[in-house]
Amino acid sequence: MARTHGHGNPNWTRDETILALDLYFDLNGKIPSGSDERIKALSEVLRRFPYHAEASRKESFRNSDGVAFKLQNLRQVATGKGLGNVSETDRAVWLEFGASPDATKSLANLIRAGVAASQASEPVREDVEFVEGRVITELHTRREREPKLREQLLSSRHARNKLFCEMCGAPPPSANSALREAHFEVHHIVPLSSTSTGTRTTRLSDLALLCANCHRLLHRAIAVEKRWITVAEGKSVCGV
Ligand SMILES: [Zn+2]
Ligand SMILES: [Zn+2]
Repeated sequence: MARTHGHGNPNWTRDETILALDLYFDLNGKIPSGSDERIKALSEVLRRFPYHAEASRKESFRNSDGVAFKLQNLRQVATGKGLGNVSETDRAVWLEFGASPDATKSLANLIRAGVAASQASEPVREDVEFVEGRVITELHTRREREPKLREQLLSSRHARNKLFCEMCGAPPPSANSALREAHFEVHHIVPLSSTSTGTRTTRLSDLALLCANCHRLLHRAIAVEKRWITVAEGKSVCGV
């Protein structure tokens, strides 16, 4: 039988659930099977969601059976019948939008436009593409944006009183922790092309803490010089 739960797949987000609700309204309560073209189309959009890039490598991630299953969940919330599999997000989205198909449609259009735009713009800008190529650079960048890694690195540096940019030495501009976080970025110091598989788990020791400005300069320098540049070398190359 079709796999609907998608073991290990991330929970549906609010944005995704809004897209599903939009389709649910279009379908007028009649939910077709996963082979329906409209279901397949939504599955494709969901698999392109920028923040699910890793998960979408799994075949079961938001496949059309999973989408059909979500539509059934939404029908359960809508009709109040058989609420077994309904999630908090399903309930919350229904509460917010269940009575407003038009508002759902316009928000869904915005979300779809956002997904399309991130397809067009999120991939690495050419001026920062590493010599290893676009896909590797993208993987590197994606890894650096992993929110958990950032948090871990920030709190470990904070605990050791080492909260400063490893390139220019600048401390955070403010004691306000939210501003402090905006100041710093994570730089992955191991070129992915030199790790054997490119997919090993990232350790904190693989990361450097840089201010946003130095991080940008360093990536640019790597792209311009077409070779990997370490943080230490970056100091002189970038003149900070
Ligand atoms: Zn810096
Ligand atoms: Zn970096």
